[in-house]
Amino acid sequence: MAEEDYKRVWAECLEVIKDTLGPENRKAYETWFTPIVPLQLEGATLLVQVPSQFFYEWIEEHYIDLLRRVIRMHLGPNAMLKYSIVMDQTIPGDPLVTTLASQPRRSTRNPLSDLPVNLNKDGSRELPNPFVVPGIQKSRVPSQLNANYTLENFVEGDCNRLARSVGYALAEKPGTTSFNPLLLYGGVGLGKTHLANAIGLKTKELDPDKTVLYVTSEQFLAQYAQAGRDGTTGEFIHFYELIDVLIIDDIQFWSNRGHGTQEAFFHIFNHLHRRGSQIIITSDKAPGELQGLEPRLLSRLKWGLAADLQTPDVDTRKRILRQKLQEAGAEMSDDVVEYIAYNINTNVRELEGALISLMAQSSFNRKEITLDLTKQMIDKYVQSSSREVTIDYIQKVVCDYLELPVDCIQQPSRKREIVQARQLSMYFAKRITKSSLAVIGAQCGNKDHATVLHACKQIENLRQTDRYMRSMVEELEKKFSEQ
Ligand code: ADP
Ligand code: MG
Repeated sequence: MAEEDYKRVWAECLEVIKDTLGPENRKAYETWFTPIVPLQLEGATLLVQVPSQFFYEWIEEHYIDLLRRVIRMHLGPNAMLKYSIVMDQTIPGDPLVTTLASQPRRSTRNPLSDLPVNLNKDGSRELPNPFVVPGIQKSRVPSQLNANYTLENFVEGDCNRLARSVGYALAEKPGTTSFNPLLLYGGVGLGKTHLANAIGLKTKELDPDKTVLYVTSEQFLAQYAQAGRDGTTGEFIHFYELIDVLIIDDIQFWSNRGHGTQEAFFHIFNHLHRRGSQIIITSDKAPGELQGLEPRLLSRLKWGLAADLQTPDVDTRKRILRQKLQEAGAEMSDDVVEYIAYNINTNVRELEGALISLMAQSSFNRKEITLDLTKQMIDKYVQSSSREVTIDYIQKVVCDYLELPVDCIQQPSRKREIVQARQLSMYFAKRITKSSLAVIGAQCGNKDHATVLHACKQIENLRQTDRYMRSMVEELEKKFSEQ
């Protein structure tokens, strides 16, 4: 069969699958089928690539009958489907070793028979390194953007509003605003890679002629080193100078290493900036804390705008969870979503991880996703990472207990039960969290530290003298100790 046949076969299969699922399952189709990439056809065996182990398991669990039918229809009764799973690529370390270690590893597994998993590590896929192609045409530079990270599905909240709206403005007019370079910084899992990608995709959507390129700082470093070995440093620099929007992810990896790389980037940066190309850089540290970068490079980074991504608040966490559920074509009840949102407050990656584990857990054990199942799962999940009870969470528990809406704490009301809810929240926040009185006050209705101190004394006194208050505090203590 001709080399390109596997693509045609898969495209035909996709057509049938899409038809069979119908428009009401459009989202599920996009989530679970469009990311599959056909790789090869050998006889009647089609090899496809899927983004993760979880993804593969989900497809097997939910769509195997459909897939089997469709594949057999196209390739005959002996048709086989093999999966190649791309493993996560996030292991920092020495650059060259890392580039090897972070190659997508593949494992193949045959879902149409009961053969055991056959792990087949072949690191054969090379990083695209298009600058070595002689006479490369600008329009043919593959952007390396991740099509799943769009601006539309990047949920907006106070934590990212500035960065997101600047991103939007850039995509409309790359290189012409004063946000050049744009430095996106923030802790792990807060959406830097997602947002940087999304800006690139939006730029392309608004103007397909723009040449956008996404590279990680490690890829850049490795390519530069390779070019040095091959004697093609000139081509390397020339290639990058063709780009209209250059995105370099995780620049903190350059700290204290790669003097030559930083030098090359400095050169490229100056050229791009002069010719009005947009540069977008992400870092897990604020520019002032990026040690080990060449001072003159650092000063260039400060030319534009540094926008930070912060930890999302509980409301944004809920909206992110709903967004991710919708993308996966899955549903969960509001109290399940709330439980996850209140209990996982570290970063979005963990939030998403918990959601995926929960979906997987429920689908493997054929259990419905109930609040109980969620509690068991999340508690296990959170044990391994560091869990801190937050003031938000305390307010939620107190208000649920008193049957009040949680936002009443923020209102200036002097109604007795609201004052009580606020004072109880302050009291427990003081006992359980490490937050200062001022921070507790600020989060409990914008009060000052003296009010918090007064509340704590008040509750402590009532607890000694009032039976009703004592039982309430004890009940709540129990709830927090179950944590
Ligand atoms: P970082 O690069 O900062 O470590 P990522 O961009 O890889 O973080 O984000 C981690 C995960 O969280 C990704 O799956 C991303 O889609 C998701 N994510 C982060 N922020 C948001 C957001 N505001 N809306 C939707 N998804 C988000
Ligand atoms: Mg990232």
